[in-house]
Amino acid sequence: MSAPQDPSPPGNPLVEGPADPEHDPTAVYALERGYVESLTSRLLATSGTTVPVRSPLDGAPLAHVPQSSEADVAEAFARARRAQAVWARVPVAERARMLLRLHDLVLERQEEILDLVVLESGKARKHAFDEALHIALTARYYARTARQHLATQRRLGVVPGLTRVEVNRVPKGVVGIISPWNYPFTMALCDGIPALLAGNAVVAKPDAQTMLTALLGARLLDEAGFPQDLWQVVAGPGRELGGPIIERSDYVCFTGSTATGKVIAAQCAERLIGCSLELGGKNPMLVLRDADLERAAEGAVRASFSNAGQLCVSTERLYVADQVYDRFVERFVARTQAMTLGATMAWENDMGSLVSQAQLDTVRAHVDDAVARGARVLTGGRARPDLGPYVFEPTVLEGVTPDMTCFGHETFGPVVSLYRFHDEADAVARANDGDYGLNASIYSQDGARARAIARHVRCGTVNVNEAFAATFASIDAPMGGMRESGTGRRQGSEGIHRYTESQSVATQRLLRFSPVLGMSDETYAKVMTANLRIMKKIGRA
Ligand code: NAD
Repeated sequence: MSAPQDPSPPGNPLVEGPADPEHDPTAVYALERGYVESLTSRLLATSGTTVPVRSPLDGAPLAHVPQSSEADVAEAFARARRAQAVWARVPVAERARMLLRLHDLVLERQEEILDLVVLESGKARKHAFDEALHIALTARYYARTARQHLATQRRLGVVPGLTRVEVNRVPKGVVGIISPWNYPFTMALCDGIPALLAGNAVVAKPDAQTMLTALLGARLLDEAGFPQDLWQVVAGPGRELGGPIIERSDYVCFTGSTATGKVIAAQCAERLIGCSLELGGKNPMLVLRDADLERAAEGAVRASFSNAGQLCVSTERLYVADQVYDRFVERFVARTQAMTLGATMAWENDMGSLVSQAQLDTVRAHVDDAVARGARVLTGGRARPDLGPYVFEPTVLEGVTPDMTCFGHETFGPVVSLYRFHDEADAVARANDGDYGLNASIYSQDGARARAIARHVRCGTVNVNEAFAATFASIDAPMGGMRESGTGRRQGSEGIHRYTESQSVATQRLLRFSPVLGMSDETYAKVMTANLRIMKKIGRA
């Protein structure tokens, strides 16, 4: 693993060099004068308190973000509700045009987005690019398929020709979106895009660590033409603002840990409102005996170490067929050792920093616990303060046993455990072990066999001969978790229909559903019984 050549952030238009002491005496980076303020002015935050956002690149403050009070949350909902009443009458085609403008803006403003994502999250620039890519894909997909998802649909009426049934997709109203820090640009926008398209307003509460990126997302929505009040952003601790948000939402979209997801589900249940919960995972990869081992090793590196493993669909358990175990491990470890690590703004890094001291502590604790209980470190295993305050090496473990924390608990860091399997039934059973069910991957040169195995894996997405990107970037396909990895789905028709109520409108002609012309109830029942038999005979649904 080579060290970065230049620890300072080169070529970043937001960085002007040494801090302006009047602006922030402790800052190492000074964002272009007025840039942070122009972003934070988009917040509804009048509590009078601020919270510092620190760059994981060097631990120095980037900005002081004003915090929202409960009254600000109430005001955000009031504004959003007023804006939604108007927005619901804007034709879907016009909403879709705005999404296509968002798509273009994301591509045009890529450098600004990537700079801010890297500064705020510490990730490698190529992983920040994945975020811009994902939002462009999501915006284009929903813009192009808006009619397909939202147009009123005809359904079968009970009496052919006489009962006309239509199903409308009615917006829920105001959607509360609570999101984490790990993919700050993706998480800020990807769930809100279909909510807006379906005619809703949004009140978003992004994670405190990555508030600036979320506010840049809001700015791009404004520039794409969405009415500003339609998308409100509030800032503050989830524990304090979560309740006030859920109390006022018509639907809640939460992405984060399983523990928080359970709290949110209970609060939504109290109000009888729906929620989608995109939660944690302990994702398995299966390398079958007929896998292309080079391809599997390349995929395993991306699956385990993208965004330094701080990715919900990241692989943390690698099950390899006995017959190819040694050959696979040799390739996988060599590729891991060839990775370039660094906490810099440039494209050169294969893996960047963890986001915070808390993440570093968790990762270190999982590795130390495993080693203390007898696991072997095949590569990695150490923090790298020489590269950045929260950098941790990509780490491959062998000999991990059920008593070790990292066996079943999500690490959410660059740590993967290797296991051998003897037959595929055993591999599937072990992949299904534990409480999670988010993502899996299967490597085999027999695609049909891999797809057949996938049906037995209890995960919401399964990638064959890919790490996670094939499902994640196929926006037409639903994405989400089984079991404790969540409920509900983002992407595809499921990802937009969750923000709508289906409303059935049936118009009845001529026939009434009651006896006519003095017919007795008994005769009516006989006529209807005969009708039912005829309908079945002619094959009607
Ligand atoms: P977290 O649950 O601690 O926080 C996520 C968000 O919830 C933050 O905005 C936080 O402020 C807020 N929050 C915290 N407590 C709250 C409460 N009581 N009420 C309302 N809001 C509250 O999660 P985290 O540790 O920051 O994020 C990492 C987790 O997110 C991992 O488990 C990861 O797997 C998961 N994740 C899942 C997906 C997915 O799509 N399934 C995507 C990204 C991350």
